[in-house]
Amino acid sequence: MSTVAKGYGLKINRAGMAICPFHAEKTPSAKIYPDGFHCFGCGVHADVIGFTQRLFGLARPIDAARKLNDDFLLHLDVDGGASPAQVSEYRRRQHEREKYERWENEAWLMLCSYYKLLREWREMVPDCPDDEPDRRFIYALHNLHHAEYLCEEFINADEDGRKMMRSEVERIAGFLGGLTAD
Ligand SMILES: [Zn+2]
Repeated sequence: MSTVAKGYGLKINRAGMAICPFHAEKTPSAKIYPDGFHCFGCGVHADVIGFTQRLFGLARPIDAARKLNDDFLLHLDVDGGASPAQVSEYRRRQHEREKYERWENEAWLMLCSYYKLLREWREMVPDCPDDEPDRRFIYALHNLHHAEYLCEEFINADEDGRKMMRSEVERIAGFLGGLTAD
């Protein structure tokens, strides 16, 4: 459900709440459940299909199912009714999607904190030019530019591009993990 809600522009906060698209409000009162939507403000309650139908003003649930198929490439056979194999395929895809989105989130936060840390280290300039520089300062000198580049790459990349950065993200995660272990 959250994949669809996000796909259609809802911003879901940490508490799983979003601004309800079905009534005017400034603070989120709509809760996004794994398999449904419920607004505590206007009382709309719907599953994924009902939500989509209402959001786009579609006449029939089948139209909403078709739209979901098109928009999220679910490849469900909406006209013949989904077979068990298709349903499990749909679940598999959704599971994969959620797994990727979680990773994407974590990877982004990881890259940001790496970049932020290196910027702090870059400021640890030795007081006198003759002083032995802090090894973190040296590290930042060598890697800050690359860290900035990684953040930009990640923002600009599409999903495949981000997946290709996986090993780099893991290396940085290992590096940051090693710091806290000290
Ligand atoms: Zn509402």
